[in-house]
Amino acid sequence: MSKSLQAIRGMNDILPDQTPLWRYFEGTVARLLDNYGYRQIRMPIVEFTELFKRSIGEVTDIVEKEMYTFDDRNGDSLTLRPEGTAACVRAVLEHGITGGGQVQKLWYIGPMFRHERPQKGRYRQFHQIGLEVFNLDGPDIDAELIVMTWRLWGELGLRDAVKLELNSLGTSESRGRYREALVEFLSAHLDKLDEDSQRRLKTNPLRVLDTKNAETQAVLVDAPKMADYLDDESRAHFEGLKARLDAVGIPYVINPKLVRGLDYYSKTVFEWVTDKLGAQGTVCAGGRYDGLVEQMGGKPTPGVGFAMGIERLVLMLEALDKVPEELSRQVDVYLCAFGEAAELAALSLSERIRDQLPNLRLQINAGAGSFKSQFKKADKSGALYALILGDDELAQQVVGFKPLRGQGEQQSIAWDALAAHLATCVVQG
Ligand code: ATP
Ligand code: MG
Repeated sequence: MSKSLQAIRGMNDILPDQTPLWRYFEGTVARLLDNYGYRQIRMPIVEFTELFKRSIGEVTDIVEKEMYTFDDRNGDSLTLRPEGTAACVRAVLEHGITGGGQVQKLWYIGPMFRHERPQKGRYRQFHQIGLEVFNLDGPDIDAELIVMTWRLWGELGLRDAVKLELNSLGTSESRGRYREALVEFLSAHLDKLDEDSQRRLKTNPLRVLDTKNAETQAVLVDAPKMADYLDDESRAHFEGLKARLDAVGIPYVINPKLVRGLDYYSKTVFEWVTDKLGAQGTVCAGGRYDGLVEQMGGKPTPGVGFAMGIERLVLMLEALDKVPEELSRQVDVYLCAFGEAAELAALSLSERIRDQLPNLRLQINAGAGSFKSQFKKADKSGALYALILGDDELAQQVVGFKPLRGQGEQQSIAWDALAAHLATCVVQG
């Protein structure tokens, strides 16, 4: 195929064999979010570039080198969203729905775009489910976010495969004091820092903690620790969070080097990580961002949120063999009809059945075909049962009901009794 007709590198089609697992995952999360009282918000995929520069920070990996930015026909600089928080904050401000201290517990789902090096678990178009809470400043809500994800891992069968890492970045004042101490320390060891870290020391020194370079990591062993610079309020907040996680029995490790890639975090930051996906180990990450709304032009409004990467979680479900068995079957019943009169009867019969059993997955044969070929299609569809409607059945107003997976003999069932019969033998999702 000519190159222009291929998908863009790092941007994947999700094929019909994969979508059942995606829908299972997304459906499980959506149900959980509903049950905890979160409401969905949908933002545009494209925003003014300025929005991301202002919120994410000019000297982050995302803004420096990962954004898909272009001028539109009016000459406005637009960017495909690299994450959801910025647009969500923009939306709540624009519509005034966090004004006067109104609490909002919001979630969103959709594609995000970052120009990174594509590899397993890292793509240029990827998908997140994210969540943001506004106007709640206590550790109770931070804990709720984490407890909810813990429940999700439980439902998905992933609890044993993920680990919670926690840190507190303090308030902007305490972070400022820490930053000074860190810069002073690192400046004294400048020659031992890798090139990236030397640059970050000037632009975004906390990010040096994030380095993958072994020599720089060795220097960091003796670096000042954020925990020693936390103000009383941040310390109490962090203790409150830990007490709640302990109460529910959620294990965690404190990772003093956890600073997150974005500029806007304060106090709580956390990541759920796994060792089942190679280098792309973070499946869900978030934290508190009490200064962000004000930085974006709103009244001071506490916020906290997280985002999880759907591709990585889907990969994990596959790698750990946690794909529910029932996802492999998409059809319950396959209706075969032979001859034009039978086809007409089959169509109206199937519509009557659908009225009575709205959740039944009933596939009606299309494209006619011999008995043998329709049967082959019925079997290939994965259906549990085939319904057979030919001239004889038509004359008697019955259908042949044939188990396809070895559960008994074919029998004849009257049209009027068919829905009731199907209801007893097909478990409806
Ligand atoms: P990483 O350190 O892996 O680059 P990040 O800190 O840039 O992650 P966030 O901005 O916190 O990621 O996004 C939240 C989640 O979205 C990540 O934990 C991950 O699961 C997922 N994610 C981020 N970037 C990508 C990507 N390029 N491809 C697939 N998933 C991604
Ligand atoms: Mg990244």
